Amino acid sequence: TLNTDWAVRWIKGSAAVVSEHRVELITLDREIGDGDHGENLDRGFSAVLPKLDDLPADATPGDALKLVATTLISTVGGAAGPLYGTAYLKAAGAVAGHAELDGEAVVAMLTAARDGIVLRGKAEAGDKTMVDAWTPAVDAASSALADGLGEAAILDAAATAAEAGARATEPLVARKGRASYLGERAIGHRDPGAQSSALLLRVAADAAA
Ligand code: ADP
Ligand code: MG
Ligand code: MG
Repeated sequence: TLNTDWAVRWIKGSAAVVSEHRVELITLDREIGDGDHGENLDRGFSAVLPKLDDLPADATPGDALKLVATTLISTVGGAAGPLYGTAYLKAAGAVAGHAELDGEAVVAMLTAARDGIVLRGKAEAGDKTMVDAWTPAVDAASSALADGLGEAAILDAAATAAEAGARATEPLVARKGRASYLGERAIGHRDPGAQSSALLLRVAADAAA
């Protein structure tokens, strides 16, 4: 059941996974950016953890996601702070008022997150950004919903597609963000934001299993 306990497990799990993968994300960003992506996200999610205790007893999943949004916006900085902040804010808005998310709400949440990232960063599919993880995730989630799968299976499909999408950024030239300054030298390197997005979506699915 995708209730507030699930949202809190997702957020706590995100903090743990970002911390575990901090060096990996820093290394990816060092190759085609400025090397701070792991640090940025670790700082942001670490700052969310103590605030979870202040969530009221009747908080909805959307309330928890909104807490993530405001915290990431104020602590992460760089490109990823506003992008992820907008994603969580739009995700929260899409499920506002729901005590539990059904399959349709999950798809609406993921779609709103992706649309928020695109609205904010103006990247298209294939620009070698986090959008290349989110768009396949949204497409896979929509297909899974159409196939009649339940919420947990929809999240699992989204995470699997995001992982493939992140891997598929490796051969691309970047057209947005710092990696775009590198031209062809970005080829052969995975986009750090696509990788972190895949990690976060995998945690969402694991928290639902
Ligand atoms: P910065 O580049 O400011 O140091 P981070 O290292 O935290 O910020 O985040 C870099 C990630 O942000 C990139 O790997 C990419 O996925 C994402 N990104 C950068 N610019 C854009 C954009 N315009 N649209 C979508 N994602 C972007
Ligand atoms: Mg960076
Ligand atoms: Mg930076």
